[in-house]
Amino acid sequence: MTKPITIQDVKVILTQPGTCRLAIVKVITSEPGLYGLGCATFTQRIHAVAAAIERHLKAFLLGRDVSRIEDVWQMAMVNGYWRNGPVLNNAISGIDQALWDIKGKRAGMPVYDLLGGKVREAANVYVHADGPTPQDVAARVKEFVADGYRYVRVQQGLYGGGGTPTPPPDGSVEGAYYDPRTYRRVTLQMLEHVRAEVGDGVELLHDVHERLHPSAAVAFAKDVEAFDLFFLEDLLAPEDIAWFERVRAQTTTPLAMGELFNHPLEWRTVTEQRLVDFLRMHVSQMGGITPARKAADMAHTYGLRTAWHGPADTSPVGHAANLHLDLWSPAFGIQEWYQPSELDRAMFPGLPEVRDGYLYPNESAGLGIEIDEDLAAEYPVIDGVENWTQARLPDGSPVRP
Ligand code: MG
Repeated sequence: MTKPITIQDVKVILTQPGTCRLAIVKVITSEPGLYGLGCATFTQRIHAVAAAIERHLKAFLLGRDVSRIEDVWQMAMVNGYWRNGPVLNNAISGIDQALWDIKGKRAGMPVYDLLGGKVREAANVYVHADGPTPQDVAARVKEFVADGYRYVRVQQGLYGGGGTPTPPPDGSVEGAYYDPRTYRRVTLQMLEHVRAEVGDGVELLHDVHERLHPSAAVAFAKDVEAFDLFFLEDLLAPEDIAWFERVRAQTTTPLAMGELFNHPLEWRTVTEQRLVDFLRMHVSQMGGITPARKAADMAHTYGLRTAWHGPADTSPVGHAANLHLDLWSPAFGIQEWYQPSELDRAMFPGLPEVRDGYLYPNESAGLGIEIDEDLAAEYPVIDGVENWTQARLPDGSPVRP
């Protein structure tokens, strides 16, 4: 029996080339020059993920056979006895994606080939258009369309519609205030304007970001039916999943959710009960490629499609992992995509590229992405307290962002 290639070292690379703190895991093997990269980005709690890897998982991993991805994943998830949760899942994802990268490099195959091979050459992507007025949003959509994009998420005032006209009570604390009623009104006006301006040739998406109370959410899903959305995202919070049944009973607006899911029971429930049309977990948040491919297969069985979470708080390594899943899975629906900077491309050689609204891989073995560690070191993470997540209602009540 040939001697297995084993894990020799595990490094966490924290860097911030843009607005988001990124965590990249590098698994170094006993084979000279052979290593893998994975995304472990939980941008708001990045140091906790780094500690989970460096202080806990690394000792567990050293000396293990790099070929046994499933075994490592299963055991890493239960070795601490208490399992799941965003910190541990992201930490395990960094290891898991790196092991898939290593397996692909050893085989001389891209990861999509290991999964079963391509069913498409590239992935349709959607991008984000935002603006302070309906006219600004429509203009941004037209720019994207001119650049070849066919799917655009439209938001006015990002999440929550951009503030509240009602002053909070005297003595209220600072926060990201918004008014659900205002949000609902301005968003419906924006959607009506944008659809009229851009016509039916563009697929429009919208993210509610859990900003409505459940009954209002049911009404909103009915209201937007007229605008023929590709999907309506996060209409309800994971805590309010039971309300989806009422939404389904009253409208055919396609629904997407999943970026906040931590536990398999969360995606199992919405899939088995067909409460949504698209599963859009943050692949590092759910634990990496190993659980994501199982969720994609389950989605396919139940007639759902995938739309993996992919804004700027997914690292370029994570975006590469998303794309390999997209190219392989018959359940693929759409891929969320961000606008990489020149610095992102310099720091992460091999970052997938968009042409005519399609995201293409670079066809290298493994995940096909590298990191320039010297350049990453020049951009250390900037610590701070997140403001946009300190959402409050007009009367000052704290709510989910
Ligand atoms: Mg979202």
